[in-house]
Order: sequence, then C-alpha cells, then structure tokens
Amino acid sequence: MKYIEPLSVVILDGRAFKADRVRKQLFGGFCKCGGRMVQKAWVGESILISECEKCWRTEAFRFNGRRLVERREVEVVSKRNVKDFLSDVLTPTEFDAVMDRAKGRQYNYGAFSRARRKLENMGLNVEELLTLLA
Ligand SMILES: [Zn+2]
Repeated sequence: MKYIEPLSVVILDGRAFKADRVRKQLFGGFCKCGGRMVQKAWVGESILISECEKCWRTEAFRFNGRRLVERREVEVVSKRNVKDFLSDVLTPTEFDAVMDRAKGRQYNYGAFSRARRKLENMGLNVEELLTLLA
C-alpha cells in the first residue's frame, strides 16, 4: 500500500483512493516501537493512515465497522519520490513522455496518451501529477 502524500491518495491493489487529510493532532494508535501515532488521513471510514511521532513509520489500519481487520505498513510517496512511483507504474517510454510533458518539452504523444490512460484507469489525476513533476 502506498500513500501519495501531496495528492492525498492511497494506492491499494493498483487503484487510487482519495483520502481526507486529518488536520488536527488526533491519536492514531500505537506503533511497534512503542511510540504514539498521529492520524494523517482517512479513506472513507474504512482506512486510517497513521504516522508514528517517534520513528515516522506509517501504517494503514483497515476497519470493518468499528472492528480493526488489518494493519500494514504504508510506503509514503513524497513530492520528491513521485518520479520513482511513476517509473514503477509506467514503461520507460511512457515515463519519459510524462516527464517531457511536465517540463514543457517536446514529448511523444502516443506514449503520453498510453501513460495517461494507465494512470486514469488507476484513478489518478494526470494534471495533478504533472504539477508535482514540473
Ligand atoms: Zn514508531
């Protein structure tokens, strides 16, 4: 599971889910290190993303109703790592086309539209992604 922080989107099984950021400092469980976790974002009422205040480990807590059914580590994709995320998802040609487009350079239209389709099928907003890469 990944959390693309600048877009506040959770990637789960290849699909993007919009998460609502939590702006208050709310208790978000205890970390394996013993530290306190703070709520970062919620996907609906079923997935909570929390971050440890001590070791910065980020975890997702999945709920079914009020019952916790799963917790697992989340890879946080920061603005700096968006390129790595895209290069995992796209082919090298598609990735280059997206980067060229973001930088306002000449780009390969065919490869860009394949990349766009792929990202939109995941539920990601390509224009939002481009602004992070520019
Ligand atoms: Zn911790």
